[in-house]
Amino acid sequence: MAFVILISAVISLGAADAASENETPDNGKQTCFAEKGGKPLPRFDQICQKLHDFFGSSMPTHITIEFTDAYFSRFSPDTSTVKISARHYQQKPFKVIAHEAAHIAMARLTQSSSLWNKFRFIDEGYASVFSNDVAGKREWHKAYSLQIAAREHRTQNVSFLLVQDWRRYWGDTRMHSGRDRSKFSDYAYSVGASFVYFFLDSFGENAFLKFLKNLPGHGSIHGALTNSLGLASTEVERLWLGYLAAVTLEK
Ligand SMILES: [Zn+2]
Repeated sequence: MAFVILISAVISLGAADAASENETPDNGKQTCFAEKGGKPLPRFDQICQKLHDFFGSSMPTHITIEFTDAYFSRFSPDTSTVKISARHYQQKPFKVIAHEAAHIAMARLTQSSSLWNKFRFIDEGYASVFSNDVAGKREWHKAYSLQIAAREHRTQNVSFLLVQDWRRYWGDTRMHSGRDRSKFSDYAYSVGASFVYFFLDSFGENAFLKFLKNLPGHGSIHGALTNSLGLASTEVERLWLGYLAAVTLEK
């Protein structure tokens, strides 16, 4: 499988992002992450532990990190390798590594179906939620994402139909380089994250995991929701939009 393009969490970050994520202690024992060439990066090991707690053996025990000058970071679930934008790594190393590693774990759990266009909103939504959680920014990120998603909902720009065409909803990296930011929607990641927050708040982590496991077999949001929650996608969509409608917009 070719490297999958993804955007780092940078797009969904606001002014609240801080340098505190750099202060992870280095216990010098585990080496889940290592640079290509072998240099261990133990400061990121808690990311692996947290992903393993949720994804189990779908989370690989080792991930290789390569640095790139490209704007977008990329990941390969097959080789458990991430190519990290050096620029973004410099700005927020912890968040970028967590975001990429979450993609790898989810791709392995879902037999790569998380990479399908129609499921990318879940993939990017979860990677955004997880990376902010690890960086200690979950509450801030949740409030931030829900504000943006709620505003999009009020302009009729949130639905399963819309988000399942991720290339159209967010942008298409096959056609546009990441440097041309006008070709990418800055709200899309927040809308994806809002679905994940809604799901976790409404049904819990175990149900979310079951939903993810059902994605490849059913090949559709509807099938995976029906099998994991016993609810039709139209009903879950109604609940999600109601969750967004209940958000009080800040001025
Ligand atoms: Zn991503």
